[in-house]
Amino acid sequence: MKALMTMDENGGDKSPRDTRTCAIIGGGPAGLMAADVLSRHGIAVTIYDQMPSFGRKFLMAGRGGLNLTHSEPLEAFLTRYQNADWLAPAIAAFPPDSLRELAAELGEPTFTGSSGRVFPKSFKASPFLRALLRRLLAQGVEFRPGFRLIDVAPPTLHLASKSGEGLELHPDAAILALGGASWPRLGSDGQWAAMLAAHQVEIAPLMAANCGYCVEWSANFIERFAGAPLKTIAIRCMDEYRRGEAMITASGIEGGLVYGFGPKLRQSFAQGKDVVIHLDLRPDITDKALETSLSRPRNGQSAANFLRKAAGLTPLSVALLHESGFQHLPKEPQILAALIKAMPLRLTGPAPLARAISTAGGVMSSACTDALMLKSLPGFFVAGEMLDWDAPTGGYLLQAAFATGAKAAHGALAYLSK
Ligand SMILES: Cc1cc2nc3c(=O)[nH]c(=O)nc-3n(C[C@H](O)[C@H](O)[C@H](O)COP(=O)(O)OP(=O)(O)OC[C@H]3O[C@@H](n4cnc5c(N)ncnc54)[C@H](O)[C@@H]3O)c2cc1C
Repeated sequence: MKALMTMDENGGDKSPRDTRTCAIIGGGPAGLMAADVLSRHGIAVTIYDQMPSFGRKFLMAGRGGLNLTHSEPLEAFLTRYQNADWLAPAIAAFPPDSLRELAAELGEPTFTGSSGRVFPKSFKASPFLRALLRRLLAQGVEFRPGFRLIDVAPPTLHLASKSGEGLELHPDAAILALGGASWPRLGSDGQWAAMLAAHQVEIAPLMAANCGYCVEWSANFIERFAGAPLKTIAIRCMDEYRRGEAMITASGIEGGLVYGFGPKLRQSFAQGKDVVIHLDLRPDITDKALETSLSRPRNGQSAANFLRKAAGLTPLSVALLHESGFQHLPKEPQILAALIKAMPLRLTGPAPLARAISTAGGVMSSACTDALMLKSLPGFFVAGEMLDWDAPTGGYLLQAAFATGAKAAHGALAYLSK
């Protein structure tokens, strides 16, 4: 290892150290992964985060069952990403199996669910996070929570605490792993975008991904159904038809099935248009079979009762048919069946970025070297969700965050050894 005379964080002289230094800003999965790789290679790593503790969004991801990665073959896995070209080398170097090995090393062996998704045995993020933080401490990583990066001027980084305490860092290399812009209360607020753009870093606009969409429900519908699941449905959006689950919210519709159409919907909304999607409220039955059932005599039943018995519709599905503009449902079985199989729903826009699962856009591949170093800020590397890639839920987000964290760390190692 090189012996270097460095400055301390306040700019003062420090005794000679026998390692090179790397400052990591952002203590989510990408930053923590980078800290692991660098500290195992003997680099003196200090990791900073503006929040009072590390990995807050990761902990949130574990709330509903931490979907760490996916078990499908790598070739298929990579097709899930938009902008996959520049992610592929990072994920090939740190593929899903490597993330599963890391989890096992941390005492959280993984298992594959029926959908192919991979989960840690506890389903939670906290045991994984605690074990990783312990391992980093044992490897000599220093943790500095409560410090926000406010500017960069290579080789200097300027940080400040809430109380106004300033830090000026002069590390030998730096990794920025500042996350996207969703759930800002967990720390990732996307404010780095303006800071880096001022240093000629090309940034694609940050947009909500894996997010809900707004629908103008009536007050009565919201009161009755906000929070209700739509279990067995399918959606047709443009030329794509998929089955899955969604949920009604006070402002619209969300859930895995809806998230999957994100890239298509984003394009339409970017052109300032509302989008009409079509819900198939009975995906497991053909139009013809439905029409036959609906041809039964009604025998004085209310519309809701008839639809429940003849078409197997829930009260929520019946209310949806009314919400979609059909106060008086068609009487003809063929037309009614067609409506149940393709109910139009107007989406007026994406839900706010702050409520999205992830962020599309970010630091563009053209701004980075192959090693994820910023071309306009030599010695500064970037990783995680702040990069311009997008993927559906299913473990692809965390896999890319960990893999790019490892990739940026290897880039920093090569840079430091020059
Ligand atoms: C509700 C929810 C559920 C999710 N579930 C899953 C899931 O099951 N599977 C999956 O693959 N993905 C899931 N995700 C997405 C996943 O959590 C993120 O993609 C992942 O955390 C991104 O990691 P990251 O390290 O790039 O960024 P982050 O985890 O966002 O970490 C970035 C860190 O940088 C810090 N920071 C930001 N700006 C500054 C600054 N200026 N100065 C100092 N520090 C700063 C932040 O405080 C934060 O700690 C979920 C997300 C949400 C919101």
